[in-house]
Amino acid sequence: MSDLKIAVLGAGVVGSTTVIELKKEFRNASVHIISEKFQNETTSFVAAGIFSPEGGNLAETEQRTRKWLDDSYNYWNNIRLSPNSQKAGVRQLSGYVFSKDHPHIVENPMLEKIVPLYRSATKDEMDMYPGGWKYGCYFTTLQTDPTRYLRWSEIVMKDLGVNVERRRIKSFAEVRNDFDVVVNCTGIGAKTLCEDKALFPLRGQVSVMRAPWIEEFVFGEWDTYVVPSFDTVILGGCRQYESYNTSVNRYDALSMEERCTNMIPSLKKGQIVERRVGLRPYRVPTRVEKEYRCVQSKTMKIVHNYGHGGQGITFAPGTSLDAVRLVREMLTEKQSKL
Ligand SMILES: Cc1cc2nc3c(=O)[nH]c(=O)nc-3n(C[C@H](O)[C@H](O)[C@H](O)COP(=O)(O)OP(=O)(O)OC[C@H]3O[C@@H](n4cnc5c(N)ncnc54)[C@H](O)[C@@H]3O)c2cc1C
Repeated sequence: MSDLKIAVLGAGVVGSTTVIELKKEFRNASVHIISEKFQNETTSFVAAGIFSPEGGNLAETEQRTRKWLDDSYNYWNNIRLSPNSQKAGVRQLSGYVFSKDHPHIVENPMLEKIVPLYRSATKDEMDMYPGGWKYGCYFTTLQTDPTRYLRWSEIVMKDLGVNVERRRIKSFAEVRNDFDVVVNCTGIGAKTLCEDKALFPLRGQVSVMRAPWIEEFVFGEWDTYVVPSFDTVILGGCRQYESYNTSVNRYDALSMEERCTNMIPSLKKGQIVERRVGLRPYRVPTRVEKEYRCVQSKTMKIVHNYGHGGQGITFAPGTSLDAVRLVREMLTEKQSKL
């Protein structure tokens, strides 16, 4: 397949992972990444990067969700165990989830089956953090720092000879029609590109702090979380349904910084260095499927890979490997089937 040409739209965690896996699968193919935004302009850059499924199925079935989850965990864990772990920003991290209201909030059956440690928090552990917590769990999981991962992926793509193009695609007709397959990883951008009514933005904002003494993550209630990353600590957060506002909101910042400091008073000594906003591409189910679309009287083969909501770092490798499988299927299907 040496004349093969594949385009990937989008350069967030999903697009970047898909590009790398496509180039590994189809070594001689010419792979192009076309994206309006890169690196710190994407939603992916904003994420805390904790490997944690939110419960409920991301795919149409539990079986497919499970496959994506297992593939993702193995993918991230292999990077963690490789010499690239620091550069790629993948490591193990432990911490707590607390609740005052309900034991259900601190249970995560999907995660429990996969991570090396998952147990109830003791009373002493709950008392270490103000909040009057009644229920808690402590676990060890993976963290992918998206700021490092996106930078590292760009280097990997360059080494693999991927063609990079910065461009906004307003419709599939704007994608050159000599690509054999187009993979759509445009996150919330798919809302207009595909006129997808099932896709919504779930706005999030975080404050980035220097507080090197914080070594464990803590999730409390009301979307309050403190997550140490490689160089900084992420304070969150919020989930604003159908908000397209990508500007920092100072009231959101004040609220989340106060909630986090109430939970970990030593954060008063920390220094805020940045505030970031991202639009989570929320869709049930996440769309990983083939489409044959008539574009300028030609059939365009498209594989969609978008709509990961608040779990895109967690699930990006699993859905991307599935998307690569669908690309192979499309390439081997007989023309007469179309
Ligand atoms: C505050 C916050 C915290 C989070 N924490 C976590 C976490 O701890 N763990 C976790 O798993 N997930 C987390 N997430 C969710 C995660 O960030 C997203 O699910 C993930 O980033 C989605 O990745 P993506 O590649 O699909 O989208 P994006 O990163 O948004 O990338 C989309 C890409 O498509 C491009 N694009 C869009 N439209 C077009 C177009 N028309 N033409 C050309 N290019 C286009 C964009 O420019 C961009 O490059 C968090 C999100 C937020 C906001």
